[in-house]
Amino acid sequence: MRRLERLVAPKPLEPSTILIGEQMLQVVFRRHAQARRLVLRLSMHGTQVQVTVPKGVSRARALEFTERSRSWIETRIAHHGDNVLLQPGHRIPLRGVEHEIRHAGTRRGLISVDSEARVILVPGELPHVPRRVADWLKAEARSDLTAATQRYAALMDVRYAKISIRDQRTRWGSCSASGDLSYSWRLILVPPHVLDYVAAHEVAHLKHLDHSPRFWRLVLTHCAAASKAKAWLKTHGQTVHRVVI
Ligand SMILES: [Zn+2]
Repeated sequence: MRRLERLVAPKPLEPSTILIGEQMLQVVFRRHAQARRLVLRLSMHGTQVQVTVPKGVSRARALEFTERSRSWIETRIAHHGDNVLLQPGHRIPLRGVEHEIRHAGTRRGLISVDSEARVILVPGELPHVPRRVADWLKAEARSDLTAATQRYAALMDVRYAKISIRDQRTRWGSCSASGDLSYSWRLILVPPHVLDYVAAHEVAHLKHLDHSPRFWRLVLTHCAAASKAKAWLKTHGQTVHRVVI
């Protein structure tokens, strides 16, 4: 029996996920015969929680351990090098171009952009900077997305009901059967041709609620950069999720 046991590799444990703030992390379990206790670590890019599981410890117990380590994971994520906070000194892409967030004194006023110096100037109390930048980015996203949506709606001769700006991790935009469009605010971080493509895509769904050849024909007729934008999203799309609000 013993010998047989050693020949049969232990069944791999099915991965799980954990939602930390607004980031969905993958949890992977690794059986380790020599391990004495459950050990948790964060992957290099901070996108995965890796749990070492000693022999005889169940997946359920390992998962419970992960849940109990939530605050440890949160702290690690917040300090992780890959994550970008909306704090002075941090750089975020704005319409695809890196800009530095800079505190501009405690006097109240509007956020402004120095495009030449690539700086986002944020006046007001220092502790309010992240919140203000987040609100401003969402407002900018709304304005760009509304303009793009109106443009494509006119070109494709369709009407939409309303636009909402959300923080969806899994999709850039969506279109409901009742004609409501919703977009991720993170589209303000990507190059304009990519934002345009997402708007064209969702507006085209107002005519065709599928991804049929006629849907794609409609998108491509009005958005020549669609293929380029799709490729951009595939390669770089995840990077904008590093920005933590
Ligand atoms: Zn679609």
